[in-house]
Amino acid sequence: MLSIFVEASCNRYVRDECRFCHVYAPLKPLLESREYWHMTPDTAGLMAEKIRSIVPLKDLAKKEINLTGGEASQNPHIVEIYKIFRTLSHNVRLHTNLDINSEKSNRWERLVEITRLRGRIDITLYPTVWESRQRPLLGKIIKLQNGLIVNLIYESLEDLLKQINILVDFFNEQERQKFIPVLELLGEFHARLKKTIVENPQCREDDFLDGMGDLENYVSCPGGFVFAVNAIPSFHVNPEGIRDMTSLPFPKDIYKVECTAIRGVIEIMTILQTGEMTPCCDVGNLGCKPKFGNLLTDSPEVILQKFGESQKLMTSGALKNLKNMKNDKAGEWVEEGIPPFCV
Ligand code: SF4
Repeated sequence: MLSIFVEASCNRYVRDECRFCHVYAPLKPLLESREYWHMTPDTAGLMAEKIRSIVPLKDLAKKEINLTGGEASQNPHIVEIYKIFRTLSHNVRLHTNLDINSEKSNRWERLVEITRLRGRIDITLYPTVWESRQRPLLGKIIKLQNGLIVNLIYESLEDLLKQINILVDFFNEQERQKFIPVLELLGEFHARLKKTIVENPQCREDDFLDGMGDLENYVSCPGGFVFAVNAIPSFHVNPEGIRDMTSLPFPKDIYKVECTAIRGVIEIMTILQTGEMTPCCDVGNLGCKPKFGNLLTDSPEVILQKFGESQKLMTSGALKNLKNMKNDKAGEWVEEGIPPFCV
């Protein structure tokens, strides 16, 4: 998957609703210069052309392109940008906070237009604006498209349970027959989570994962609607934009990032508006030093060379990280510049 940042701004940072948002501080330099808030269609065109000429990126794009930010729907050119990236993949989706106050808003109209062009809209659930803003529009989105991913960012297991309840109530109000599998999945999620909370309220992450067991996070409905739910623990992020090594729900555990690039496989490539690339979801908050090149300014040859060099650095850094964790030195940075929790 290519995760492409198309917008630096987000209405939720402006309202200070997302205290721990992991992209706010890394995107701040772009926010300070209004000129770079929105990706332009010209930049998207340059990126698409370059992606086409670099086989590993072209293959990732074919699988899926995720347009994100900041709040992607705030980009006034987003429909044009969608069309440009659609030439690389049939699977282009846009991630939104759906914190939109009316159907008359330009942001909503852009989302509708993208669904008409067969793009898919996915959301992060925000309980503070669920009733007033997200719920009415999500009811419309699930009629406009045949699938949905919902991200739940949770600060504690109780918080996660509340968010699951919100989704259960929502799907109970929809065309029941169509969404029975979604309700079954959410019901099972709720039951397992509740059991863990009751039996082990201070549980560590492994206990939580054991409690969830082999439960899949997606399901298909009659008629082909595919629903997926991603539960993502939230993190403290310091004012410099660097993320804590432990997550808020599991403060006793180091959060290890299994880096696929270290294993020679790139599954995600994150591309910032500036063209900078990281083979994971790092937008600067993890502080990964090995560089994978700049999509806008480096030639395909230079980019491929950087892929190779950086992968070697990561492999050697990850081995040192594992050693540090065994020897009570977790958290120490190694000279390769791999964040101390990446293995
Ligand atoms: S080493 Fe860590 S931060 Fe760097 S690319 Fe891998 S997972 Fe991302």
